[in-house]
Amino acid sequence: MTDQIQYRPATLLLHSGTERTPYGETSEAMFLTSGFVYDDAEQAEATFLGHVQHYQYSRFGNPTVAAFERRMAALEGAEACRATASGMAAVSSALLSHLKAGDRIVASRALFGSCHWIVSTLLPRYGVESVFVDGADRAAWEAALSVPTQCVLLETPSNPMLDIVDLRMVCELAHQAGAIVVVDNVFATPLLQKPLEFGADVVVYSCTKHIDGQGRVLGGAVLGRQAWIDETLQPFIRNTGPAMSPFNAWVLLKGMETLSLRVTAMTRSAETVAGFLAAAPGVSRVWYPSRADHPQSALAMRQMSDGGTLVAFEVAGGKPEAFAFMNALRLIAVSNNLGDSRSMVTHPATTTHMKIGAAERAALGITDGVIRLSVGLEDVRDLTDDLARGLAAIAAPGVAPLAAPPAAGLAAE
Ligand SMILES: *Cc1c(COP(=O)(O)O)cnc(C)c1O
Repeated sequence: MTDQIQYRPATLLLHSGTERTPYGETSEAMFLTSGFVYDDAEQAEATFLGHVQHYQYSRFGNPTVAAFERRMAALEGAEACRATASGMAAVSSALLSHLKAGDRIVASRALFGSCHWIVSTLLPRYGVESVFVDGADRAAWEAALSVPTQCVLLETPSNPMLDIVDLRMVCELAHQAGAIVVVDNVFATPLLQKPLEFGADVVVYSCTKHIDGQGRVLGGAVLGRQAWIDETLQPFIRNTGPAMSPFNAWVLLKGMETLSLRVTAMTRSAETVAGFLAAAPGVSRVWYPSRADHPQSALAMRQMSDGGTLVAFEVAGGKPEAFAFMNALRLIAVSNNLGDSRSMVTHPATTTHMKIGAAERAALGITDGVIRLSVGLEDVRDLTDDLARGLAAIAAPGVAPLAAPPAAGLAAE
């Protein structure tokens, strides 16, 4: 592909980053190799001196992983990308490579559970001061960033309540405090939000979610400026070893080919499902970024080109009603994963956000009635039928909402 031509995202997802071998294969080759051989001792020496470009070892770099990194960088509009074994390897590598004892990190409170643990528990163990703020509160960001700070970590929209953080505002305050801004962009996907355009320095992904999107592999990516990736991140990854497997990189390259189609279709269905839930009796509240009833919808639509594939809602009542709803579903799976082609629901208070405790959940608005729904590729009418089945089970507890067993094809899942 000629780099001079500016292709649009759907095209980049198919063609960017590909480097054909002399065999002229259509689909990217999969280089399942841990090491590489040199023509002679001189070439090995020159490679280690950095005088020639040659793959050395797959912990440092691998051709299939590199193709995935180039495609991710092209999609994001970033100078460089490093792929990692999981989303958490991406987040922890970005933070641990940048920070040292005596530094300070400020993070929005509404973070993915493991990201929250890294900031609240792991980093202080290494002498990094960590401060949490309410991501929607400008005054809280101003106060937290009024002293020198090295790093800001935030997620927008957040998991699970789909809170929005004003990227431009936080990036300006963070840069004045001397911090780089790391944005976990998993919920928005690289298609619906480009944090670098609002001033972010580093973007991280769990590629396990929409980028694979078909429930197969774990993966992560860190994107940013070439100098930061080369000088700060790469030495950390090279020496600590959170490298992505070339097999996973190849699966993720295949996932990217359909990313735009999937995210577009899932987003349309999510919007429909959010509308259905908002009008349904038994649902007390719905959160979806592009809906006018989202408290930050104007901000969301300044930063995102669409509402995304996730919907949060609250069933009237609490845990018993939420569980009755989830247990009555026949199509939508109970799973804490998200961004998959199959729709999934989770009850954050008892799963993903159980460990943060009741007080922190209350601060985040995660009540016992809140359910997170990741909308997949099923026919949206089958999804709303299934949601209606769940709501009927709350209205009539103990009554089996569906007498017929699930269809054979579904039972096989
Ligand atoms: C899933 C997820 C992660 C962690 O990614 P893994 O691939 O599971 O390690 C981090 N942040 C967000 C927002 C996520 O949804």
